[in-house]
Amino acid sequence: MTRPVFRFAPSPNGELHLGHAYSALLNARLARETGGRLLLRIEDIDIGRCTPEFEEAIYRDLAWLGIEWEEPVRRQSEHFADYAEALHRLIDAGLAYPSFMSRGEARAMIVEAEANGREWPRDPDGAPLFPTAERGLSSRERRTQIDEGEPFAWRLDIDAALAHASTPILWDEQGSGPTGESGRVTADPAAWGDVVIARKEVPTSYHLAVVVDDALQGVTHVVRGRDLFHATAVQRLLQELLGLSAPVYLHHDLVLGDDGRKLSKSRKDTGLAALRTAGLTPTDVTRMVGL
Ligand code: GLU
Repeated sequence: MTRPVFRFAPSPNGELHLGHAYSALLNARLARETGGRLLLRIEDIDIGRCTPEFEEAIYRDLAWLGIEWEEPVRRQSEHFADYAEALHRLIDAGLAYPSFMSRGEARAMIVEAEANGREWPRDPDGAPLFPTAERGLSSRERRTQIDEGEPFAWRLDIDAALAHASTPILWDEQGSGPTGESGRVTADPAAWGDVVIARKEVPTSYHLAVVVDDALQGVTHVVRGRDLFHATAVQRLLQELLGLSAPVYLHHDLVLGDDGRKLSKSRKDTGLAALRTAGLTPTDVTRMVGL
């Protein structure tokens, strides 16, 4: 029997907090209970915000918690060629286009449309969908802008992508979504609009790198916070478009602060390093997150 493969995939752009501890400890526990493997993946594609210091702190915090992971650790910044290959398959299939519109320009377009009484669609996080106007640029116009050095992002043409994939796209949810979704969940990637799948300088985005890596690493179980539940829809679509196998998903509860809000990397009080310095033990942390 093949062993289940779990992964914990933090980004080294801040300090790990209790929410990360919960996710890592839960992955480790499930791997132990199922005779599975636990991988650690460093999601450092955002080279501007990720630092070697935060990465070192991740290893230190996880080791302190008693978590053991397999070596070598996959660092996404070392695998851009893998993501570029997947990106080019999507471009060649006519499913991705370069988008030159800045966030400010997009915002202005949306404000104007709303001022004219148009209701602009929002994504599951409540943000307005990015305008799709540039789907229609000719290849000449695209070429000119690229040659002029304009900044751009590669966006997935969600309508073309859905026409290309066989729908409905489902996933197996062993945890639950924000409104209790579980079991066979129907993915609604269109809710996110034309998502960014790569940038001019970096041939990937979070979604693309995650699906490429989960497949390359043979991940069978994605266990992560409920805040990524809706993102799964985009990731399932990319898996279908790229012919990648789909893991099982388990979205778990988020650890909330005293104020009932999601923890963030900027809140020092729930950071693992701060808790350690304050004299807490790994057992205390395990108890605090309810495991
Ligand atoms: N790197 C992501 C984060 O730190 C998690 C990605 C995932 O688990 O799919 O939020």
